[in-house]
Parts: sequence; structure tokens; C-alpha cells
Amino acid sequence: MKPDDVRIGVYVCHCGLNIAAVVDCAQVAEASAKLPDVVVSKDYRYMCSDPGQEMIKQDIEKHDLNRVVVAACSPRMHEPTFRKCVESGGINPFLFEMANIREMDSWCHSKVPEEATEKAKDLVAMAVAKARYLRPLDTMKVPVTPSSLVIGGGVAGIHAALDLADMGYKVYLVERSTTIGGKMAQLDKTFPTLDCSICILGPKMVEVDQHPNIELVTNAEVVKVDGYIGNFHVTVRKNPRYVDEELCNGCGECANVCPIEVPNTYEEALGPRKAIYVQFPQAIPMRFTIDKDACIECYKCVDACYEQGRNAIDLSMTPEEMEFDVGTITVATGYDMYDPSQVKEYGYGVYDNVVTALEIERMVNAAGPTFSHVVRPSDREEPKTVAFVTCVGSRDERAQIYCSGFCCMYTLKNAVLLKDHFPDMDIYIIFMDMRTNFKGYEEFYRRARKMGIKFIRGHPDEIFEDPETGNLILSLEDLSAGRPLDLEVEMVVLSQAVVPSKGTKELSQILTVSTDSSGFFLESHPKLKPVDAATDGIYFAGSAQGPKDIPYSVAQASAAASRSARVISHDEWEIEPIIAYVDPDKCRNTTVKCGVCATKCPYGAITVVEGQAAVVTPAKCHGCGTCVADCPSNAISQQHFTDAQIISQIHAALEKDPENKILGFLCNWCSYAGADLAGISRHQFPPNLRPIRVMCSGRVKREFVYEAFLKGAGMVMVSGCHFADCHYITGNYNAEKRIKPLFRILERAGINPKRFRLEWFSAAEGEYYARITREMVDFMGELGEDQIRLENEKAGPFLERMLNRGA
Ligand code: FAD
Repeated sequence: MKPDDVRIGVYVCHCGLNIAAVVDCAQVAEASAKLPDVVVSKDYRYMCSDPGQEMIKQDIEKHDLNRVVVAACSPRMHEPTFRKCVESGGINPFLFEMANIREMDSWCHSKVPEEATEKAKDLVAMAVAKARYLRPLDTMKVPVTPSSLVIGGGVAGIHAALDLADMGYKVYLVERSTTIGGKMAQLDKTFPTLDCSICILGPKMVEVDQHPNIELVTNAEVVKVDGYIGNFHVTVRKNPRYVDEELCNGCGECANVCPIEVPNTYEEALGPRKAIYVQFPQAIPMRFTIDKDACIECYKCVDACYEQGRNAIDLSMTPEEMEFDVGTITVATGYDMYDPSQVKEYGYGVYDNVVTALEIERMVNAAGPTFSHVVRPSDREEPKTVAFVTCVGSRDERAQIYCSGFCCMYTLKNAVLLKDHFPDMDIYIIFMDMRTNFKGYEEFYRRARKMGIKFIRGHPDEIFEDPETGNLILSLEDLSAGRPLDLEVEMVVLSQAVVPSKGTKELSQILTVSTDSSGFFLESHPKLKPVDAATDGIYFAGSAQGPKDIPYSVAQASAAASRSARVISHDEWEIEPIIAYVDPDKCRNTTVKCGVCATKCPYGAITVVEGQAAVVTPAKCHGCGTCVADCPSNAISQQHFTDAQIISQIHAALEKDPENKILGFLCNWCSYAGADLAGISRHQFPPNLRPIRVMCSGRVKREFVYEAFLKGAGMVMVSGCHFADCHYITGNYNAEKRIKPLFRILERAGINPKRFRLEWFSAAEGEYYARITREMVDFMGELGEDQIRLENEKAGPFLERMLNRGA
């Protein structure tokens, strides 16, 4: 039911020229003024500015407004700003609605201003239609657990944990490896200052170990996370070390007697380690671990440990689970190195003297396997000529299209270190572009040039080995000289790409956060929320989010810690009241055994007792709306996303020229964000799609689709997150189950099933959204308006019957 006395103010933002250069804002405001219940409609340069907000507040008083619609950017951007604004003007913040005429209109339809203006009018009409049915709501307050989880103990995780712990919060630092330190612990020196890596990292690692507020859990992985901002419940699986961490003192007698040697992965397999080992002398915690795959169970280590009076070794250990509660989570799981053997033409793994950058890092290290001697693996001789090849697997359509960020700098660093150690060595850097764009980096590049390191712009087509000498011939085009070149060197070092760390996808699913098209974790907003996940209370630090060098990782770690502290410094946190509620009079469980809602809820938020109406526990409900869509008696609704609010938008969107429109239901977290990204990235596509935002595709009822076709829609699309990426765990699975049969049902009713689309795309897939919109518009064009109208008319009685059945 629409409340009586609705008085709506509409405000159309120019956003400088971001909107106004394409959309005729005055015309949109004029058209909006004619919409039912709109009492004032204005356009203004910047609605989010102080004067813009002041205008809204004054109008609320002057025109006695009880609803406000702002047509501007995405609600994902400024909805909180305007909610606060209307609240301070005296209106409940949930009596506010936003029309997205920037990301979803002016930015992606900039070549067709007239059509973009028409679309803007529709988007405002849809927002006004919803606003008429809005109800005042109270935000819910939930208690906050004042502790935090940091996943990954590289330099980023270490800094995030220390910052939070220093602020007085309890921190759980969960590290998959047997020691913290990450890649930085493997490096020799660090650019651009060339300070010793472990010398600056080591003290921080010790600080973590000794900090009273940090509980360090190594050799462990997060396997489950339940809950929401302020209240996450975390389950961690701690893998067995076969050495009791409480009893081991790191003396190393066990390793001294161990008869088994295997390649040492910390040393990039350039040296051996024992089956019982610590990764490196500064490991934290300094506790030994048995590599069960290598161990022959000779028990020599057990005896040695016993002789030391410790008895720390226990070969019967099994994985343990531990559980704890935290208010926030920082993900700092870093990166892995791309396997360069995949670039077949460079011969890594085939020719001995083709090595990687990390192998060189270990070789030049005084404590490394060759004690700072750089030697050719084939003959252990010091090479006189070395070529570094950059962008191996980066900026390459066949591998990673992105730039791995820090490879130019680490290539320069290793070349400088080699030149420093071996002044007579001839060193070449083969590069595509030299990217040295942070403080002190360009100076470092000049230093490398001054030292006599030779730079050749180009990219080897192939690397061959001379089998006699073990030398390598790089066949390339010297782009600066404009001539082909065969360069013979004694050793080649590949600066390979970095890729998301193993398990990133699985962790993203556990946390219900998104990854980008390269597989790294995806931030909520690239500029304004660069360390936040779209899921509230989860933050990113370091290379987990994309390649970052050490200063950038550390800065981001501090940013993530401060974002975390912003939450856990409060006793309570406000969460949106967009929850489900049951109308007890309609609930069929009072008369027949039902409980469908409880089976659909992924959070166990619904209790069903036989003979009684179902009950939603508000603090447990996350607001996906799946129970609402699947309730067989229409007894459940979702606050702020009621059927009436959604249907009113369908009607408004399709009021004019429906045969040329696509009605799209977009889930907030992936599809809507992906559609926003299409605009942010300025992809251009036809302006036919009218989006309706729902929190989850699980909220979309079949009736919404029937209603849209009954109103004459050209096409309808239901879209959500990719499977296993759903913000609400199983919302999209339930949506698929409910929605997929529609293809058949619609076809039987006479509607071409290609006029209905069920799409799954992520927040990173703006390009995909643009492409499918183009496809749909092309298909509508092929079919033609007359055919669409004919089909809709034919299906009309059936659609009406289906809708009446649901009523
Ligand atoms: P990482 O160092 O990768 O640490 C991530 C940590 O998370 C690891 O300990 C990992 O075990 C853990 N982890 C992963 N997944 C999980 C999981 N699911 N659960 C729990 N734990 C997990 N940068 C510079 O600024 N200067 C340099 O000189 C420099 N030289 C470099 C040389 C080379 C050859 C390379 C490859 C990189 C170099 N870098 C340099 C970049 C530097 O390595 C990174 O900036 C830095 O390591 C990023 O730190 P991080 O904590 O984000 O990730």
C-alpha cells in the first residue's frame, strides 16, 4: 500500500559536466516535476556539495517533503551522504531513493545525449515510483567484537597486525606457511635504498611474536567465516607440524641428525634442507616442522629431541580446528610467481642457465645457497655476461595482460647488485618499457645506467642454448636501433609476472568477497574505497589486491588497519534494516507444514515451529530476500525491497515504449557493481536497459518477470554473482533454481525464450555487461517491435493467470 500524503522532492545533479555534458538535466527536472506526488523538482551543479545538500534540507521544510529522490551517481557512491542529509533535514533516511544517471547513463551513453536524457527521465520516474512506497525504517545496532583477524603474514599482514595490536586490539594473525615473512623474507636487498631485506623485516617479525595483543597462528588456513561486520565467527584449520610448538625451542639438534635432504623451497631449490626444518634462520616462530612427504620415520629426530630434554616431536599429530570471533578481517595473502616455463620460447626448465629473479635474489644473498656467489647452474662458473628479460608473462595476451608493477624495479635492483659485486660483468636489461614512477625510483634507474648496465628495448622472440658452451642466444628486435639482434650471454634472468596467491579463489568464496578479472581481490571502489572489500568489515592489504611493492604494501596495511579500527573502536555498529519479515496471518505454516523459508535461508535466521508462523531473527538476517521470493504464500517481505516497491519500478520503467526496453534485475554486489564499472570504464552501449537494483538475485520472483512481459517489455534479464561468489552464499543458486524454468514456461506462453536472459557476472566485468547489453539490443532489433508486441499480446492472458495465481 502506498502511504497517503506522499510529497516527493526530486533533485537532478549535473555532477559538473559528468552528467550535464550528456544529459539535459533541466529537461529531466522538468519531466520529473510532472510525476505523481512530486511537489518540487530542481537541477543543480553538485547535489553532494554543501549548498546542494542545504537546498534539499531547506526544501524539506519549505515544501513539507516526506520523500526525497536524488538523480546523480551510483547509490554505491553517495547513498549514505544523502541519507544523512535528509535525516538532518528531518526525514527518516530510508525515505530517500537514488537514481543512477551517471555510471549507468551519462558515462556509458555519452554519444547519444538525447537517448541518455530519455533514459535519465525513466530512471528518475522509477526512483520516484519506488519512493512513493518507501516506509520509514530504523537502523539496527549490533554489538562489535573488539578484535580483528589478519590473513597472511607477509610484510603487509605483519604491518596491519602490528598497527591494530598497537592500538590495543586483539589480533589473530593466520599464516599458511610455517613462518611469517612472506616474499620479503626471501629477498636480498630492497630497492631503491638497497637496505638488507631481512634486517628491516626481522625486527618486525620478532615484534609480532612478542606482542601481547597478537595471537600468531602459523601453518594454518581459514576454512570458514560466518557472520557480518562487527561479528565474524572464524574457523581455522591448523595443520600439524609434528613438533609441539610449546615444547620446541628451535635448537636444531633434530635437523642435525636427520638423514634426509630435499630441495629447499625457501632457497628456490638451489640448496637442500632436511626433512625436519625451519625455513630460514630468522623464522618466526622459530619452531621446527616435519615434512611428512620426505620423512622416513627413522625417529632419529625424536631421540635427539628427547636427549635435549624436550620431547617435542609427535609424529601422530593431526590437523586441529580453532574458532574465534572478530569484528573485522584484513586479507593480506600476497602473490605467487608466475611459472616462467609456460613461456616455452624462453626455455626455463629446459636450459640450465635460464634462471628466475628470485633465484638470483637467493644467489646474491650472503646467507643464500651460494653465499653471494652468482654461478651458472650448468657449470658453477661465474658468468661474464648476463641478460635480464622483463615482462615474462606480464603485459602478454597469452598470459597476464596486466603489468606486474614492481618487476622493472627489482630487475634494476638485481642488475645493480650484480654490477656492484662483479664490476667486469656485462649486464643487459631487455625491456619493453621502464616503469620507475615512485619516490627515488627514477634516480635508481639513472644510477643503473651510469654504472654501465646496457638497456635494449625489445622482447626476445626466442632464447636458444649453445649446447657446447651452455651459453644462451637471445633473438630479438632492438626497437631503438630498429634492427634484429642475436645477443649471446652466459646466463639469462627472467623477471616473471606475479599472479594471485594459490587459494585466492577459495578464500574469496569463504569470505564472500569478489576477485577482479586477473584473479586478485577486488576493492569496493578503486578510488574512494581502495582497501575495502564490498563486504563490510573486510579489508585488503598488499599484493593480495594486485602487485604492490613494499612501501605501497605497508602503506596499504596501515590503511586497512585504520579502516578496521574505525569499526572495532565502537561498542556497536549500525547495520541496514533491509531484513525480511513475516506476515503471520499469511504464513501457511500455521495450517500446513511448510518451512520453505527456513530451508532457503543461508544464515539460519528463520525459525519454523509446526503450527506457528515463521519467525525471522533480525540480527541474523542479511537481507538477501531469497526467502521472500520462495515463500509459497507471499507471507514474507523484505524491508526497503518490497514487492510493491519493485513492481512500481517495473511499471515506471515500461510506461513508454516498452518494446524497446530491457528490464534488468541486478544484484547489488556483483551485477550492479559490474554495470557501474561499465560506466566508470566509459564502455559505450545502447541505452535500452532499465536496471532495478535488488540485494541478491535470490530476491527476484518469477512474478516480476511475468509483470515485465505483461507490461510489454522487449526483454528481461535477471543477473547475479557467479556461482560460489554470492554475497549471500546460496542466493544465486536459489535464484537459478527458481528462474531457469522460466525459459520453458515463457516459450510455452508464446514468448521467444531468447528474450529472457539469466546472467552471472562479477563486479569486475563491466565489459561483459556492456557486451550483453549490445547483444540483447541487437536481438530485439532482429525480432522487431511488431513481433515483440505480438508475442506479448499472445502471452498476456497466460501471464495474467500466473500473476493472479500468485496473488
Ligand atoms: P607476500 O610477501 O606474498 O606475503 C603474503 C603472505 O600470505 C605469505 O606469507 C603467504 O604464505 C601468506 N598466505 C597466502 N595465502 C594465505 C592464506 N590463504 N592463508 C594464510 N596465509 C596466506 N619490493 C620492494 O619494495 N623492494 C624490492 O627490492 C623488491 N624486490 C623484489 C624482488 C623480487 C624477485 C620479487 C618477486 C618481488 C620484490 N618486491 C620488492 C616486491 C615484494 O615482494 C612485495 O612488495 C611484498 O612481498 C608484498 O608483500 P605482501 O605481504 O603483500 O605479500
